[in-house]
Amino acid sequence: MDVLRSKVRRRNLRYFLRFGLLALLLASIASTAAMINGCATNAATGKRQFNMISESREIAIGQDADKQITAQMGLYPNPALQKYVSDLGLKMAAQGERPNLPWSFKVVDDPAVNAFAVPGGFIYVTRGILAYLNSEAELAGVVGHEIGHVTGKHSVVQMSTAQITQIGLGVSTLLEPRLQRYADAAGQGLGLLFLKFGRDDETEADALGLRYMSRINEDPRELVGVMEMLDGVTQAAGGSDVPEWLSTHPNPGNRAQNILGQLDTMTIATGSEINRERYLGMIDGIIFGENPRHGYFKENLFLHPDFKFRYEFPQGWRTANQMQGVVGINEKQDAMIQLTLADGSSHSEAANAFFGQQGIGASGRQSANVNGIPASWGRFSVTTESGELRGIAYFYAYDGKVYQILGYGTAAGWGANEQAAVNSVKSFAKLTDANALAVQPWKLKIVTLNEPMTLDQFAQKYPTPVSIDVLGIINRTDSNTRFIKGNKLKTVVGEKLP
Ligand SMILES: [Zn+2]
Repeated sequence: MDVLRSKVRRRNLRYFLRFGLLALLLASIASTAAMINGCATNAATGKRQFNMISESREIAIGQDADKQITAQMGLYPNPALQKYVSDLGLKMAAQGERPNLPWSFKVVDDPAVNAFAVPGGFIYVTRGILAYLNSEAELAGVVGHEIGHVTGKHSVVQMSTAQITQIGLGVSTLLEPRLQRYADAAGQGLGLLFLKFGRDDETEADALGLRYMSRINEDPRELVGVMEMLDGVTQAAGGSDVPEWLSTHPNPGNRAQNILGQLDTMTIATGSEINRERYLGMIDGIIFGENPRHGYFKENLFLHPDFKFRYEFPQGWRTANQMQGVVGINEKQDAMIQLTLADGSSHSEAANAFFGQQGIGASGRQSANVNGIPASWGRFSVTTESGELRGIAYFYAYDGKVYQILGYGTAAGWGANEQAAVNSVKSFAKLTDANALAVQPWKLKIVTLNEPMTLDQFAQKYPTPVSIDVLGIINRTDSNTRFIKGNKLKTVVGEKLP
């Protein structure tokens, strides 16, 4: 079960990428040119705010980030679901204090439990969080909270007080070639996503979310359910791995308390709706968890059914399948391997571009044929702010794409890791396993009970690849609860990975 994959680990890798590989690859720095418009009263919160970013600048930042987010994460390919989320969001935003922003609401194709906003009114929910929510009102809570960050101008104020600089992630993107042109820009706008909001901002966004929920007649009490869900997902992960939404939105326990406190002061309109059935109908059949078509691990073997290749990382290394590529890092964290798509139409052209970069010391350049795949490779060294890095770079031309695989480490640690890294980078090969090539993602399925039963009985009657604990979390219930005929429950259907 991989839906709660390690975000913490990914952060470390991301950190390593930024500071280890930084000088080596593109270090694009985008600084937000600030336009002074000073202190003003926020219409949503009534507070005086220091804001140096004009609304047109804010929108431009958002539009730029939106292009990158859409390209990098991909939109979930379900037009009816996209329209449903968009309609709900637009209806709420129209009731807010900044109705004239170019609001957009999108479902991104990401299994993480997450939702986020970028300045200018661009809001995203993941297909991951949709699977865990239980009603339209809960979705309205998530969306309303994110709208609150925009109407509360939390990001723009943060950007004004700390002159923001975003640094490219330094890796190309493992996406279809048509999207590669966005690769160099990766990280600039996306860095906005990793802004952490403070406690006050969160409380304020929750309060605004409750306001917008009421205004469109969705029951604001359902926001408490969202907090319970986040709590449940966190506990199931053993505390080591929190949902992405929480890592940027702290204090779930306190938030639930605050929300309850705010609800006490609100008049809940009679006839407020939850719209559970409509919501469940919309998410019936969506992909659940990681999509193995985009690559998956069997221990240290990485299989990519869509791109039809296999790749083996050294034994014992920690690995991650990221948006931009696949990465592995050794236990001492002084060596790393990353596999990405490369620019260039041939392996030699990609190699030339890489080894020709300023600051790169190259040696031993040659062509090779590895596992029947034409390749170029060579050794490199580069001096970064944190010291010298040494490594090898392989470029493979395979099935209409060029792949770049870098194995590198600190000068001190490279000797101990070189052989394992070389063996690994030479393991790139055609994927021939028919079962792996045919793998399909798991799907969420809504079942209407035709007789009373407990969750345990439900799990027996409708076989699922996920554990009873996961069933409990997605249905927000425990194994002792007894359901009646006609109740709708979520299950997950699919096969174990081959
Ligand atoms: Zn928030």
